[in-house]
Amino acid sequence: MTDEEKKQKLRAAGWRYSATRPCKVAGCAAMVEYWVTPSKKGVALDYIGLRPHWFTCRGSHRKRARPAKQLGLFQILEQSEPEGQ
Ligand SMILES: [Zn+2]
Repeated sequence: MTDEEKKQKLRAAGWRYSATRPCKVAGCAAMVEYWVTPSKKGVALDYIGLRPHWFTCRGSHRKRARPAKQLGLFQILEQSEPEGQ
């Protein structure tokens, strides 16, 4: 699945694209895409691959406990992907 197909899937699931900007977390300058979920939560996704950015973020929030709720939202989406990429 290409990134463009993932974006189409996100939109179809009610996510809204917000902006592409460098990560705001201190110590991390990765390019990320900001999306708003159907429940109006802001989520940063990796610019390449569109994974939840907190997986790869090198900034200070990495030390925090994993936000299981965000992963849940994205997992629902991932599970709807067809078998084999
Ligand atoms: Zn980051």
